[in-house]
Amino acid sequence: MQPVLVIKDERFALHLEKIPHLESPKRIKVINAVLNDPSIQGKWAGVQAREATPEELAWVHTPEYIRTVAMSEGKPLTTFDLDTQASEKSYEVARLAVGGVFNLLDAIWNGQSRRGFACIRPPGHHAEPNKAMGFCLFNNVALAARYLRERYSANRVMIVDIDLHHGNGTQKIFYDTDEVLYLSMHHFPSYPGTGNFGEVGVGKGEGFTVNIPLRKGQGDEEFAKIIFFLVNPLAQAYRPDMILVSCGFDLYQNDRLGTMRVTPEGYGLIATFLLGVAEKACEGRIAFIMEGGYSLRGIRECGLRVMQELCGVSGLNLKKIDKIVTSSPRKSPAISKVMEVQGKYWKVLRSQ
Ligand SMILES: [Zn+2]
Repeated sequence: MQPVLVIKDERFALHLEKIPHLESPKRIKVINAVLNDPSIQGKWAGVQAREATPEELAWVHTPEYIRTVAMSEGKPLTTFDLDTQASEKSYEVARLAVGGVFNLLDAIWNGQSRRGFACIRPPGHHAEPNKAMGFCLFNNVALAARYLRERYSANRVMIVDIDLHHGNGTQKIFYDTDEVLYLSMHHFPSYPGTGNFGEVGVGKGEGFTVNIPLRKGQGDEEFAKIIFFLVNPLAQAYRPDMILVSCGFDLYQNDRLGTMRVTPEGYGLIATFLLGVAEKACEGRIAFIMEGGYSLRGIRECGLRVMQELCGVSGLNLKKIDKIVTSSPRKSPAISKVMEVQGKYWKVLRSQ
């Protein structure tokens, strides 16, 4: 098996280095330490990060907004909103996160390996074209989708957002286009307030935004079922060139901002189902891009399980998988509702 490609760079710890914050530099130190776990040694290979250019950032963000973030450079503290700040090196680090993902996509697209994991911060999915929000400066995953189009003329990219929170920024950026199929499962109502069933896209983008708002307290099986009964058929129908995963670790049962009950084993299940989806839909091409997650233990344990699945070192309970794939999707109110709302656009969801 080809090694899993990984973006790992100590410099991601330089954002908010001296500022007490939930989105702390310790998060990157923890995920970097996971990569040293004996179970995955020799099964992954590092890819160098680089800084994205302002021209590249402008695929998604307005020039005015990019300048505003750039002005934070060298200043001890710049405040964008109540949650979102920058320190001296944040602009550089945020561009390194975006450029790191670009390099990862190059390596996957060129066949070096089909699976990648970007251990980056700051996260990105809340960042809007002209606004920093929810700890996010630049929208890493949205820029990644644009990169595939600009650099490789990819026609279709699927983004699966498994962060606890809705990716309002990603949704907004692709709301009116069919070039990206954006699917998000998240706690609702919760921060940032968007992501209800009826938000399905507009114009050419109608049916290309799929929201799965969930009540608090959902566990491993509910999320695995969503991947199996919704993400999978949609991916087979859409046939993306690549799948990008907005991979938050805040579904973890003891997350500091958390409301869900997902265990490390559950993250393993989610990852393995997503790998299966990518195998069938796009020859296995998939990149996991780190978003939120505010329990260091959660990042450590869930991050390790995700990496183990990517590396093909599975510790999964096959009975648990069997139970999920043989269950009835209609028993889940959220899945049932999505089938009803999105069945209008996706024939594949009508037949189940
Ligand atoms: Zn989150």
